[in-house]
Amino acid sequence: MNANKMSFNILTNCEPSISTLPIAIIGAGPIGLATAAHLSAKNEKFVIFESGHSVGFNILQWSHVRLFSSWNYNVDKVAVKLLENCGWKAPVMKRLPFGKELVEDYLMPLANLPEIKPYIQMNSKVVAISKQGLDKMKNAERGEQSFIIYVERDGHTERIQAKAVIDATGTWGQPNPVNADNVWTQQERSLSSRITYGIPDVKGKDRSTFEHKRVAVVGGGHSAINTILELANLEGTEIVWILRKNRVDEVYGGEALDALPARGQLGSRIHQLVDSGKINVHTPFLIHQVIEEDGTLTIQGSSKQKDSSIQNIDQIIANTGSRPDFSFLREIRLEIDSTTESVSALAPLIDPNIHSCGTVRPHGEAELRQPEKNFYVVGMKSYGRAPTFLMATGYEQVRSIVAHLTGDQEAATRVELDLPETGVCSSTIRGKSSCC
Ligand SMILES: Cc1cc2nc3c(=O)[nH]c(=O)nc-3n(C[C@H](O)[C@H](O)[C@H](O)COP(=O)(O)OP(=O)(O)OC[C@H]3O[C@@H](n4cnc5c(N)ncnc54)[C@H](O)[C@@H]3O)c2cc1C
Repeated sequence: MNANKMSFNILTNCEPSISTLPIAIIGAGPIGLATAAHLSAKNEKFVIFESGHSVGFNILQWSHVRLFSSWNYNVDKVAVKLLENCGWKAPVMKRLPFGKELVEDYLMPLANLPEIKPYIQMNSKVVAISKQGLDKMKNAERGEQSFIIYVERDGHTERIQAKAVIDATGTWGQPNPVNADNVWTQQERSLSSRITYGIPDVKGKDRSTFEHKRVAVVGGGHSAINTILELANLEGTEIVWILRKNRVDEVYGGEALDALPARGQLGSRIHQLVDSGKINVHTPFLIHQVIEEDGTLTIQGSSKQKDSSIQNIDQIIANTGSRPDFSFLREIRLEIDSTTESVSALAPLIDPNIHSCGTVRPHGEAELRQPEKNFYVVGMKSYGRAPTFLMATGYEQVRSIVAHLTGDQEAATRVELDLPETGVCSSTIRGKSSCC
């Protein structure tokens, strides 16, 4: 049993020494929980704050979607060891799980392990992080001061101390708008009953919203492809696909050449569907605004520099990507790339204009290090707006960070990532890549 039995360090008059404080993990998605598994294996104290009511809360929003990477790429090795010690029945590693299975068959059992469960605080949203008694401008002994984490739960805010912080909050909760300039407007917000952000369950609970309707899907990544392939099975649904790309074939990716075959198949299936003429494709089309008139939506924009509009739309599904939330990190010294909004040192590795999914070279603590000592952004959020993140990459990130934080510098610099060699999201002939 590890040293986590100690109670959490809610601030009192008697201040604990910094070395006795836990490491705080924010977010109980796959990468946050893997961090916990690694810390537990090193007998290091930790606490996890999760804003949702369940671990894997973001994945549960797309629980009906089948992943394109098989189980063996979706689980962390140290987490698996802990699970196996407790009699976990591993899934067939070559299978592609649905989001729901990833949560129910892996993340939940992991979170329920006695080494982890007592240290997860659910329905606990981190709203700010600072350094004890310092504002961002103050240098004095900054590295030696603890972090103070402001956590909102049950309508009140607690201040909790930690010696290091690992932000694994993902980006799912902050979707981009449909507006091609990527600016949220009041008008777009007011259409929330007509625009769905994410991947609705069109075969299940959301079927009636989209069946026998004229539905516009906005976006050119794997989420849009998934959505369209599902909509195509509905009766009487007319699909309009709106993309910014110059040519629709830019989204097909590597198809048969993709190192992750399921991802390649998505490209091949959408290619066939477009060729069959069943989808009304508008590309390039830049959306300026969406207006509601006479009970339907009109999408106004431009195509090849000419004003254009698409009319009589009943519903819009926005698969336009998402962006990281830095609002609660205002008091933390951060280096974020100005283009990708990724951790700065990752930007040249992950720029989606250059790299396709899976080709990103492994990286760890050294690349993820921030000016704020012992503070790290990991997982999906570390890639900022770039859609190319894979869980396997995140597991390698946190393995290296935990090794560093627990004094094993040799392990921190070692590379242990086991990814398909050449993920092919796009060919160079077709141009840009896009994953999720
Ligand atoms: C549809 C889809 C399919 C994907 N398929 C694959 C795939 O096949 N293979 C693959 O490798 N990757 C895939 N990905 C990419 C990526 O691996 C996943 O998004 C993965 O869930 C990222 O893990 P994460 O732990 O970084 O973030 P998340 O899973 O997003 O977890 C973040 C957690 O932090 C919590 N949180 C957020 N803000 C706060 C806060 N302020 N305080 C406390 N808690 C907070 C959230 O509730 C959430 O539980 C896919 C992504 C999507 C969207």
